[in-house]
Amino acid sequence: MNFLQERIEQDGTVLSGHILKVNSFLNHAVDPQLMAAIGKAFADQFKDQHPTKVLTIESGGIAPALMTAFELGVPLIYCKKAKPSTMNDPISTEVFSFTKQKTYTMCMERPSMTSEDRILFIDDFLANGQAFKGIEDLISQTGATLVGCGFCIEKAFQSGRSYILAKGYPLYSLAPIAKLEAGKITWLEE
Ligand code: 5GP
Repeated sequence: MNFLQERIEQDGTVLSGHILKVNSFLNHAVDPQLMAAIGKAFADQFKDQHPTKVLTIESGGIAPALMTAFELGVPLIYCKKAKPSTMNDPISTEVFSFTKQKTYTMCMERPSMTSEDRILFIDDFLANGQAFKGIEDLISQTGATLVGCGFCIEKAFQSGRSYILAKGYPLYSLAPIAKLEAGKITWLEE
């Protein structure tokens, strides 16, 4: 088990509906030392892909993605889940949220990336890959290249993993879960 899996076993809670609650260190309260370690791990994993920007989605992805961008020495961009009036050249796509069970508009400023950019996508969770599909759509609208996908926690029993692997994108998850049942986590043996 690595440092994140140990922390999840210590402080995470398995809820009904295959949901893992990590509000005490990632999704509400945020542990800065843990985020720094996550940023180092993702930067080590993806540095050879030479990302020029790290991309994530508000709000759960911001802390781990910021530390990854810091380690790589590149800017961070986070997609918004509603279009702010301050965005004057937005691009957007519709995304179904697994935890909220409703559709939202994911958007970002068109000039925030160009066809020259090599994008590393970092997020807190991968489940069915709906958020990832939104990211893929936005990146394709800018002409940038997706060079890797890093997830703190991956629920490998849901369909996001096979979608990303089938597309051939490099995928790395720090805490990949094979099963979430009866309050217990079974880790995926890689
Ligand atoms: P997906 O779009 O891959 O189906 O779901 C990913 C998003 O849903 C994540 O960014 C995260 O916000 C949320 N999510 C999915 N599964 C879980 C879970 O078990 N626990 C928490 N806290 N969030 C989840």
